[in-house]
Amino acid sequence: MFDLHGKVAVVTGSTSGIGRGIAESLAKSGANIVLNGRHETPETEKQRAELETKYGIKAIYICADMTKPDDITRMIGTTARTFGKVDILVNNAGIQHVAPIDEFPIEKWNEIIAVHQTAPFLAMRAAIPYMKQEGWGRIINIASAHGTVASPGKAAYVTAKHGMLGLTKTVALEVADKGITCNSISPGYVWTPLVEKQIQSQARTLGISVADVQDEVFMSRHATRKFTTVEQIGEMAVFLCSDAAQNMTGSDFKVDGGWTAGQVPLKRPDPKNAPKPATLEHA
Ligand code: NAD
Repeated sequence: MFDLHGKVAVVTGSTSGIGRGIAESLAKSGANIVLNGRHETPETEKQRAELETKYGIKAIYICADMTKPDDITRMIGTTARTFGKVDILVNNAGIQHVAPIDEFPIEKWNEIIAVHQTAPFLAMRAAIPYMKQEGWGRIINIASAHGTVASPGKAAYVTAKHGMLGLTKTVALEVADKGITCNSISPGYVWTPLVEKQIQSQARTLGISVADVQDEVFMSRHATRKFTTVEQIGEMAVFLCSDAAQNMTGSDFKVDGGWTAGQVPLKRPDPKNAPKPATLEHA
């Protein structure tokens, strides 16, 4: 267990899925947390209060839209005014849209690039001066297996995630001598609302069951045949914030069940249903 007591972590898009899991893991390790989402609701207040009571840390919620530059700089400024510093920045907020290139809506392209590329750029630009003041900082960009390989229908997302890896490496080199590291985590498929929506939409498009889409479409990418969990991503983020990771920077850490390692072997038949091997006949 790594000790992050006294550190201040901003996690964008932390009302759901992976961001929520990362915020929970960082809070469990003692960090004070800045939660972020587009809307303030009774549910976001409940989530904030629960982190405080469960882990004895201070948590605030900042409503900020990652497509709006002024919201992003205000989020970092409010964090610094509230806690006196910004130690950890996790650029996690994300959206998806799936369509062939010749039908891809321009406004969806712009939104995906804004949330996955421009928002991390603006958040890092605003947070790094505070990290330099402390001589310590950790930046984690949540990229994707789609930062390394492509899938049809995901032009904007794949472009944005590939770019995120380049941005991560560039920033890592710029701040390496200031005690600040900058890395990315690239999950494969993680069971979250974003993926659940995609599974349901593919089931409708392909006319097959949700279970078959999970197994035959999504898990055909993971050699392990298992979804990644939000807790596994959260624990990876905690490790990257620890002293043990102080010399790790500019790297991409894949948590993708072997997706990008190479060709995933075909699914082996379930031994329970597999045909029995022919027995040797003795003459
Ligand atoms: P999710 O839909 O559960 O959560 C996304 C979060 O981003 C939500 O809290 C949402 O409110 C927030 N968000 C979206 N647009 C925003 C905006 N304009 N301003 C502020 N917040 C905004 O999705 P998730 O699966 O947890 O995805 C989180 C990140 O992980 C994304 O960057 C995604 O690309 C990446 N990722 C997810 C998977 C996966 O399988 N789930 C795989 C690889 C990478």
